[in-house]
Amino acid sequence: MSEPLACPTCALRYDLDERFCAKCGMPLVYVGSDPVETPADSAHGRARKIDPRYTEGELVRVAGGRNQAEAEFIQGMLLEEGVPSILRRSAGFDVPDFLAAGPRDVMVPEAGAQVAKDVLLEAEMAPTETSDLRPQTSGARIAAFVLGGGALAAFVAWLLLQGSA
Ligand SMILES: [Zn+2]
Repeated sequence: MSEPLACPTCALRYDLDERFCAKCGMPLVYVGSDPVETPADSAHGRARKIDPRYTEGELVRVAGGRNQAEAEFIQGMLLEEGVPSILRRSAGFDVPDFLAAGPRDVMVPEAGAQVAKDVLLEAEMAPTETSDLRPQTSGARIAAFVLGGGALAAFVAWLLLQGSA
């Protein structure tokens, strides 16, 4: 072993003539029977955060994001409390997949729904009767987009009819 020393924080390896980590200044330790822990990747950290108690049951909707970014933000907040969640494109907004805009439903297992609602209530992000229908937000613009697409399809159909006549 040419680099028997390691930083306990960064897991960087050093020669015997080094005493401290050049990156963070921690005293180096010998790489012995205790394996130096490598920093966990984000997927692993994510999986470790999930509380198994909250993984049971059917998926239920606990919140809505007005777009992918907002939904992912909510997802992150729930994960902090150990609640796993998935995002679904909200029903009634049948827009192409490439469109990052458009509302998302945040779905959690039934067992985690109450915790999720408490978390969202605390963050004042729980849906209320009125805030779910925000006509001035992107939802309305997506609806306009869909309607526009329908009109375009009708126009193309009309053109084809003209051509075949
Ligand atoms: Zn270090």
